[in-house]
Amino acid sequence: MAAGSASGQAASGTGSRLFLDTPITYLKGVGPKRAEMLGKLDIYTAGDLLFHVPHRYEDASTIAHISSLSPGMDATVMGRVVSKGVIPTRKGLRIFQAVVRDSTGMIEVSWPGQPFLDRTIQKDDVLLLTGSVRFFHGRQLHPREFVNLGPDEEGTAGGRVLAVYPATEGLSVKVLRGLIDSHLEALLRQVTDYLPSWVWQEAGVPMLADALRMVHRPQSLAEARAGRARLAFEELFFVQLLHRRANALAREDRVGVAMVNRRDLTTRVRERLPYELTGAQTRALREIFADMCSPRRMHRLLQGDVGSGKTVVALFAALLAMENGYQAAIMAPTELLAEQHMGTLSGLLAPVGIEPILVTGRLGARERRAAAERLAADEPLLVVGTHALVQEATSFARLGFVTIDEQHRFGVEQRAALGAKGQNPDVLLMSATPIPRSLALTLYGDLDISTLEERPAGRLPVRTALRPESARERVLQFVDREVAAGRQAYVVYPVIEESEKTDLKAATTMHAELAAGPFAHRRTQLLHGRMPSHERDDVMRRFRDGEIDILVATTVIEVGIDVANATVMLIEHPERFGLSQLHQLRGRVGRGAGESYCILLGDVGQETAERLQLFVATDDGFEIARADLRMRGMGDLFGERQSGVPAFKVADPLVDIELNLLARDTAERVLASDPALTADRHAALRRVLGERYGRSLALFRVG
Ligand code: ADP
Ligand code: MG
Repeated sequence: MAAGSASGQAASGTGSRLFLDTPITYLKGVGPKRAEMLGKLDIYTAGDLLFHVPHRYEDASTIAHISSLSPGMDATVMGRVVSKGVIPTRKGLRIFQAVVRDSTGMIEVSWPGQPFLDRTIQKDDVLLLTGSVRFFHGRQLHPREFVNLGPDEEGTAGGRVLAVYPATEGLSVKVLRGLIDSHLEALLRQVTDYLPSWVWQEAGVPMLADALRMVHRPQSLAEARAGRARLAFEELFFVQLLHRRANALAREDRVGVAMVNRRDLTTRVRERLPYELTGAQTRALREIFADMCSPRRMHRLLQGDVGSGKTVVALFAALLAMENGYQAAIMAPTELLAEQHMGTLSGLLAPVGIEPILVTGRLGARERRAAAERLAADEPLLVVGTHALVQEATSFARLGFVTIDEQHRFGVEQRAALGAKGQNPDVLLMSATPIPRSLALTLYGDLDISTLEERPAGRLPVRTALRPESARERVLQFVDREVAAGRQAYVVYPVIEESEKTDLKAATTMHAELAAGPFAHRRTQLLHGRMPSHERDDVMRRFRDGEIDILVATTVIEVGIDVANATVMLIEHPERFGLSQLHQLRGRVGRGAGESYCILLGDVGQETAERLQLFVATDDGFEIARADLRMRGMGDLFGERQSGVPAFKVADPLVDIELNLLARDTAERVLASDPALTADRHAALRRVLGERYGRSLALFRVG
C-alpha cells in the first residue's frame, strides 16, 4: 500500500487520522499485550480489525425470555449474573455455577468441570448463553456456548441487533466490540471500493463501506445479512477470478504438444488385465485421453470413492504418455503407498515387459544413481515415488504425464513442483474425498473434473455396526477371534495422548492397556503421527507382511493402504470423527475375499447416534460426503485446512450457491474484457488480489 502507513503517533493522539494499514498497536486501546492477542485472530492492522466481521447476530427474535424456558428446550438467553460460585461434587468434579436474570425471570447455569470460569465471569456481567435446558433441582441451563458482554451491556431491547465476534482466549467479545465500535467511523471514512461499481450493482449487493457498516452495526438482521452478502460475494468473486485466470494460463502453457492415441501399449495392457474396466473407469479415461491428445495441457482432478479403482485409470494415462515417447510419474504421499503402487503396477505391466522404477527416500546411493540415470535418459518409462520425485536433484529428460495420488496430502507447492518438471506435463490429481460438483467448482475451479461414480462389482460390503460401551468386552473378544482365525485388525483412537482437558481414550494408553490385557497373547503395535515417518512406514510394512496382528493407531492409517488380510476396523470415540473420515478408515478393510467388519464403539448421544447411523447404513462415499457437508460444514470434510484451497472467511460455498454462480459469471465477464487484469480500471482490484491472495497468485503465476 501507499506511504500512508505513516503517522502512528498521530493515530494514537486524539482526533487523529487513522489509515487502514496503520499497525494495530497504534490504535487507541491497544497495548503490546492486546496486540499479541489480536495477532492470534490475524488482526495486525486497523484494516484487519475493520474486516473482522461478526460470525453471528442476536436480536429480540432469537433470544428467549428466561421465564419461557422449560426442560428439554434448546435456547439462547441473555441475562445478568446475580450470583455465582464453584461447587465441589463428591466425585471430585468442580462445577462453576451462576444465576442469571432477565426482565422475566432467573435461571441457574451450570458448567461442570470449568471452575476457572470463576475468574472470568463476574457478578453483574451480562451473559449471552446458548444451550439446553435440563431439570436438576429445578430448571438448569447447560451452555454449549456463551459470550460475556460485560457489565455495561443493556441487552437487545428496542430492536437493537447484537453483533457477536469471533474471539480468542484472553480477548473477549466485549473487548473486541468495544475496540471496533470506537474506531469504526474513522475506519469507514478510509474505505474505497475496489470492485468496479457495475460489479456490485449488478450483483445486487451494497458497496464496500456500506456493507462494512451493515455487518458491524446493523439496524436489523436483514441489514446484517445484506452486508454479509457483499463480503461473501467478493470472496467468491476473487477466488473465481483466480481459478479462471489459472485455468487460462494452464491452457496457454502447452500449446503445440499433443499426444496421439496409438492403441499400442494401452491396448496390450488392457487385453491382459485380470478384470474388465468399469463403465466409470472407461468414461474417465475417455475424458483424460481427450485432454492429453489435445494441445492444451491437462489439469484434471479424478475423484472417486475408496476402492473405485483410480490407480488403474492413472496407469492407462501413463501408458498413453509412454507410447508417445514420454516419461510418466505417479507420486504418492507415503513410501508405503508408493511401494504398494509399485507392486500393483509391476504386476499389471509384467506381461508386456515393462518394469516401473521406484524412487523414494529409502533408496541407497547406488540405486538412487541408477534411477537418476534412467530418468535422465530420453526413453519412455514409468516412475512411482514419493515427494522424493520433486526434489531438485531429480530431473526428468522428457516428463509428459504426472499423477498425484491422495492429492490433498500434498501442499500446493509440492504439486506445483512436480507439474513444473519436464515440459509442462499433463497433470492428473486423484482424490478419494468425493464432493458435490457445485463445491468442487469453488474449491478446484481451475481443474477439470472426472468422477468414478461406480465401484468395481463383486466386492463384499464391509459389515458396519455401532456398539455401546457395555458391549466392549464382547467386541474385543470378537476382534480376538478374528485374529485367532489368522486375520488382522486395526483399532483407532482420535488422539495420541490423554490430556487433562478431555477424558478421551488415547492410542498410547489404550495400546498399553490392550497389550497388557485383552490382547496380551497377540502381536500388537502402536502407530501414530508423532512417530518419525520412516518408523511409521516400518510399522505399516510389518503389518502388511503379517508380522503384527493388531495395529493400535490414530488416523495416520487413513491414506490408501491396502492390507487384504485385515478384516476388522474398530474405532473408539466415533463421535470425534467426521463421517467421511470414518468412511476412509472403513475403506482400509474389505480389501480381500473374506468378510470384513467396521465397529464403532462407544456411548454417544442421540444426535450423534443418528449421524453415525447414516454411516452404518450406507457405503456410498458421495452420500456420506454430502451428509458430512450438510451437518458439519466444509472444515470438517477436509480436516486440517488444505493448503492451496483459498480459505473463506465469510462465504460458505455450500450455502451461497446463488452468489457463487453470480461471482463466476461476473469473473468471466471481467476477464473477457481484460484477461490479465492489466487495465487501469482494474488497478484497485489487482492490488487487493495481490494483498489477499499473494501466495495463490504466485503459484498460479497470475499477475
Ligand atoms: P482407489 O480408488 O481407492 O485408489 P484402487 O485403485 O486401489 O482404488 O483399486 C481398488 C481395488 O479394486 C484394487 O484391488 C484393484 O485391483 C481393483 N480394481 C480396480 N479396477 C477394477 C475393475 N474394473 N474390476 C475389478 N477390480 C478392480
Ligand atoms: Mg488409491
